Amino acid sequence: MIPYGRQDITQADIDAVVAVLQSDFLTQGPQVPEFEKRVAHHVGANHAIAVNSATSALHIACLALGLGPGDYLWTTPITFVASANCGLYCGAQVDFVDIDPKTYTLCPLALARKLELAEREGRLPKVLVPVHMCGQPCDMQAIHELALRYGFKVIEDASHAIGGKYNNHPIGSGRYSDITVFSFHPVKIITTAEGGMALTNDADLAARMSLLRSHGITRDPQAMTHAADGPWYYQQVDLGFNYRMTELQAALGVSQMNRLDDYVARRHELAVRYDQLLADLPVKTPWQHADGYSGWHLYVIRLQLDKIAPSHRQVFDSLREQGIGVNLHYIPVHTQPYYARLGFQPEAYPESQRFYAEAISLPLFHTMTEAQQDQVVVALARALKV
Ligand SMILES: *Cc1c(COP(=O)(O)O)cnc(C)c1O
Repeated sequence: MIPYGRQDITQADIDAVVAVLQSDFLTQGPQVPEFEKRVAHHVGANHAIAVNSATSALHIACLALGLGPGDYLWTTPITFVASANCGLYCGAQVDFVDIDPKTYTLCPLALARKLELAEREGRLPKVLVPVHMCGQPCDMQAIHELALRYGFKVIEDASHAIGGKYNNHPIGSGRYSDITVFSFHPVKIITTAEGGMALTNDADLAARMSLLRSHGITRDPQAMTHAADGPWYYQQVDLGFNYRMTELQAALGVSQMNRLDDYVARRHELAVRYDQLLADLPVKTPWQHADGYSGWHLYVIRLQLDKIAPSHRQVFDSLREQGIGVNLHYIPVHTQPYYARLGFQPEAYPESQRFYAEAISLPLFHTMTEAQQDQVVVALARALKV
């Protein structure tokens, strides 16, 4: 089976992790700050907080921005559930903004319309989580302008987009948002097995997220409410969590960072090659905005169902039967049983539903060979029965 995504682990990665195992620190040592420094420097952000997953990063990002009961968090239905769940963890309510049918990211026009209505009803969001779906940056300039006008905060869910750029600025530089979040799950662009990171240029937000990552505990005399009782002393000044990343994970992350740019460049080559190979098939290839340089986490095609005999399901099944590990990103979050119970109607976001009815993620990973890619294209042509 050719998987839809796959990590790349080199001998250098293995050596880096083994060196940590032989060192004094398995957690809370020098590797985590080193990894944070590497990523922050690469994307041009002032502060980075490494955690055990992007989900944790989204959670502490929301808390740091003050999201709580009575507030709203808005995101896109076409994302992994974590982009929405983080709002519920904080006791806030979640709502969705439909996607742009061309980019599959949160539509700024739909957002503007929804904000106008929400302002009249006194239900403006406190936090918006735009998702750089597949690695393609959202229209961050439009989102930023709306954030200034309506006074909400922005967390970029860049789980798909490390190594990408928007208007020539690296994703994570924070020009158009308050906090950016990366995921290092093995299917993503670089990996730490499990892991995530929150980046910001705001020192206060960074300090709050650091506290929340580790129980709300500080050893910094400046952050304490009263003088330390002695050298053993620490203070819990907030209610935090144990969301820490281990030294093994961070060492793997540092080693993977050495190859980030090569990975994204290779993903671009493969994506361009897919575009060419699929040009004559009845599928829509992913349209790319000129302002963006995608991280190319995913290559999602949409079937032109009016031009083919088999159904979406039949094409998907045929590809799997032919050894192509296709997938579907994503089931619209608002249709998940948990969200349906909260009252969301499936038809509320028609562009997301249409996307879900047509989308298939083809295999794309940096170690993919051109022969493997050819095999995917041949299998797809067969599945489409053309
Ligand atoms: C993978 C992913 C997450 C969650 O990442 P974890 O590191 O697994 O917690 C969140 N949002 C999006 C868009 C993702 O793809």
